[in-house]
Amino acid sequence: EYQPGGYHPVHLNDIYTSNLTAYKIIQKLGWGHFATVWLAKNLKTNQFVAIKIVKSSHNYFEAAEDEIKILSILNHDSNDDHHINDSIYNLGKNGVMKLLDHFIISGSNGNHIAIVFEILGENILSVIYKYKKEKLNQLSFSTNSIISNPSLIPINIIKDITKQILLSINYMHHRGIIHTDLKPENILIQYKGLINNKSSFKSTNFLLPLIPLNSKLDDSTTIKIADLGNATYSNLHFTNQIQTRQYRSPEILLKYKSWGASTDLWSIGCLLFELITGDYLFDPHDGINFDKDEDHLAQIIELLGEFPSINYLKDCKLSSKYFNINSKKNEISLKNIKTLKFWKLYDVFIDKYKFDPNDINIKLITDLILKCLRFNLDERYDCKSLLAHPWFDTNPTYNEDILKHLPNIHDDIPGYTSTWDMDD
Ligand code: ADP
Ligand code: MG
Repeated sequence: EYQPGGYHPVHLNDIYTSNLTAYKIIQKLGWGHFATVWLAKNLKTNQFVAIKIVKSSHNYFEAAEDEIKILSILNHDSNDDHHINDSIYNLGKNGVMKLLDHFIISGSNGNHIAIVFEILGENILSVIYKYKKEKLNQLSFSTNSIISNPSLIPINIIKDITKQILLSINYMHHRGIIHTDLKPENILIQYKGLINNKSSFKSTNFLLPLIPLNSKLDDSTTIKIADLGNATYSNLHFTNQIQTRQYRSPEILLKYKSWGASTDLWSIGCLLFELITGDYLFDPHDGINFDKDEDHLAQIIELLGEFPSINYLKDCKLSSKYFNINSKKNEISLKNIKTLKFWKLYDVFIDKYKFDPNDINIKLITDLILKCLRFNLDERYDCKSLLAHPWFDTNPTYNEDILKHLPNIHDDIPGYTSTWDMDD
């Protein structure tokens, strides 16, 4: 992809200048579909930064311009002060990666936007990999086949991470921004202790150390939402083709009449499952007589134990591509996938991942994930409502009645269920 329109060929020790300062490239930090990301040093202040150098073709260039605009909205306080006393909103403000500078690099493959960020640590996907490796080690050394802690990452750490994600996304949603590409690669850990320690950058060793089992995230460790490269305005969607496959919501798969900020909550549900198990919640594949989207829908239905309602399907452009619907008999089936293996989320945790059926955490997490996985956008819980979920209590208790009646109020989020018209 290092060709015209693609990535810019960056070399260690390269120096790039912006209107503010000059940066020296030190090492590669990561890459994605849009860009390569480099550790660099601001030669004026000696501070370390991350520079995202975006592919040069027109679409990427434009997306980077939007990423800068959206980041600068989120990095600055809103003029609208009705949030001033909203503590949940305020707690999310620092959960979005900080934009420091931006400039253009003209290179052999074209003009690239370079976006300068505060330096953060590894992404959550690499945290997942690390715990997977650790688990494999444990298994190979253990004579006992029963694992005492079936959760991949310790539950208390997952709880902290989830809480911080919900706070940050709640803030974004209230600012009228939808992320649309939430997944482990796009959520980064900030490990404050290492930020200005020069030697720590010399090896790949500046990654977050494995967090000891059963401990909580250190106070110096926070989560930041990154990659606003696909983010969009609640009142103006750039495209309807959003989200990475495994985190894609049914309203996008089926081209429902509308989508909104609630689409991020679907991805958060998928992500939470992945933190616990290390596996994708939905991992669809093409079959001989069905495509990936139909397999995806089948997996969703198998997990939720129900088809979307006929009323919902009436409002989807692609209903008839995937479903046979008999409204009179109130019967729905998939066109090409005839046998469904229903397997409810809670049973998956118990049967497949060997959680203790009496484990209160897993009961509460199941409930929380299912509140993210509602077909009906109005019934899908928003971040702030989920932050009041009993799982986040200091001493959580399981009470079906409380869970069933947990308030789900999101009328203060612009465009939660559909594109919000600015003139409204
Ligand atoms: P893309 O839009 O191409 O997916 P991202 O913005 O997601 O690019 O960045 C790609 C990867 O680079 C991330 O997954 C992360 O691992 C790393 N990265 C991005 N920003 C930073 C940062 N500020 N500090 C450290 N690593 C970063
Ligand atoms: Mg990315």
